[in-house]
Amino acid sequence: MFVKDIIKVKGTRVITARPDDTITQAATIMKQKEVGAIIITDDKNKLIGILSERDMARAIPDHGDDLPKLQIKELMTSDVVTCHLDDTIDEIMKLMTSGRFRHIPVVEQEKIVGTISIGDVVKSRLAHLEHQTNHMRDFIGGRGY
Ligand code: AMP
Repeated sequence: MFVKDIIKVKGTRVITARPDDTITQAATIMKQKEVGAIIITDDKNKLIGILSERDMARAIPDHGDDLPKLQIKELMTSDVVTCHLDDTIDEIMKLMTSGRFRHIPVVEQEKIVGTISIGDVVKSRLAHLEHQTNHMRDFIGGRGY
């Protein structure tokens, strides 16, 4: 299984925001679009960061009531790990586990062509396992065991 297999099913929709947008705007987008992270782009649509629900939750002890008014750039992660369409799902699982994050933008020739979340990875693994189980069942049935 490859990243491109997930993107084929899921599509190339990417939820983005700008670094100067506020945390309230980011939270509103996350709620409306039902995502746990948003990709931050500059005015040339270049990837410059990622902001997840976890960044906002962890900022509460330091910023308290001021949190909604902060700008995304104050909380986002700028050093974003990305992947390619031809990467395997196993590679993605390793990246997510070692980096302790649950979202990875898919980038081809500096263009963001999708995002992969841990939910997408789990879904694709389950589908793959189900496919293998059915295949084994058919095989055993066909052999008359
Ligand atoms: P998440 O598990 O995706 O909610 O993110 C946990 C932390 O990792 C947050 O600080 C995110 O900003 C950061 N993060 C999420 N995705 C990535 C990524 N692909 N590369 C680098 N950091 C990330």
